[in-house]
Amino acid sequence: MIAAARPGRYGEFGGQYLPETLMPAVAELEAAWLAARAEPGFQDELARLLRDWVGRPTPLTDAPRLAEAVGLSRVLLKREDLAHTGAHKINSAVGQALLAKRMGKQRVVAETGAGQHGVASAAACALLGLECVVYMGTVDARRQQPNVFRMKLLGAEVREVDAGSRTLKDAVNEAIRDWVTNVRTTYYLLGSAIGPHPYPAMVKDFQSVIGREARAQTLALCGRLPDVVVACVGGGSNAIGVWSAFLDDRAVKLRGVEAGGEGIASGRHAASIVGGSVGVLHGSRTLVLQDDEGQIRETHSVSAGLDYPGVGPEHALLAQSGRAEYVARTDAEALAGFALLSRTEGIIPALEPAHAIADLRQVALALGRDTIALVCLSGRGDKDLEVVMSRGASPPDRGLVPGGRGTKPPDG
Ligand SMILES: *Cc1c(COP(=O)(O)O)cnc(C)c1O
Repeated sequence: MIAAARPGRYGEFGGQYLPETLMPAVAELEAAWLAARAEPGFQDELARLLRDWVGRPTPLTDAPRLAEAVGLSRVLLKREDLAHTGAHKINSAVGQALLAKRMGKQRVVAETGAGQHGVASAAACALLGLECVVYMGTVDARRQQPNVFRMKLLGAEVREVDAGSRTLKDAVNEAIRDWVTNVRTTYYLLGSAIGPHPYPAMVKDFQSVIGREARAQTLALCGRLPDVVVACVGGGSNAIGVWSAFLDDRAVKLRGVEAGGEGIASGRHAASIVGGSVGVLHGSRTLVLQDDEGQIRETHSVSAGLDYPGVGPEHALLAQSGRAEYVARTDAEALAGFALLSRTEGIIPALEPAHAIADLRQVALALGRDTIALVCLSGRGDKDLEVVMSRGASPPDRGLVPGGRGTKPPDG
């Protein structure tokens, strides 16, 4: 019995649940990735692009006013919001586009929900002279018009998907369909650590730069490792990327924050770990949101980047083994986290990592005031202003902020 040694397996999770026609494609991809990974020329080129084009290393920012507000001794923000195109997704997009080019594929297909991965893919393809087609649900395309325009400016073709819930899961379905049809010429540039092997391992590998930098930066700043590393979890790529450098440090707690939407009990959420069960989605056995018949459920989150009904298979295993703890924060909590970071530190976060910010008070309650928390600030909030405005948030809640000019709570 050597089941555990099978590549792409995370305990009972992961694998390659694919039509026969795609098996040669994932085998070719795995071989090409492993070969590229071992080749100094590829690594040097990737390191150069990450430095000169993406803007790495991203800073680690000490956030004392935020720490005081949430009751922690120290909060350190890993600033993926300062990466080119505004989020961590670019790390994997540029790595995969470079791999596509090395494999001799001239055409790239990608899917996108909020548009962040579509923009990152389009930018990486423009940089490397590759043709780029991005699938996007019509609902998402409507609520993310500026990103649709950005992708087109960057030379990508945006194909709107008018099937199913017309959101990310349907865009993934179409991208896979395109890949099956054009597999000889086409590379599928997947946006998170999800899907069939080798994607979860490969995307983790490309995102592990976040963890390597953050670990060294934390040691330089604090002289020790953080007590806990907090990250939001959609498909799970920024979380697994930042955690990758701490998985073997058993004393460092790992805390993933899913999208609780209107609350787990409401059924309107996107928390595949906290509120899901074992199933198969997009080529991988993992935790998914499904009904009693195994049909994938509609998801809901205020943040389009977390609005996905599954999670990467390694997270399913980390949850099962207890190595990482997963919680969910609601839309309302995320909006409060969005306001809190903006007011305390002068940083407007994306709504996705605002879920992680919103969790920090709970972290303080669970782990105590002396805790040093490292938070992956996965992206910036420019893309979310319209959503936040439409939520009727008059610039929110000065009362949350120590030293803010607003009214204090009655007992404060
Ligand atoms: C897409 C996105 C996420 C969620 O994706 P993961 O793969 O879970 O990291 C989180 N934050 C931002 C800013 C995003 O754009």
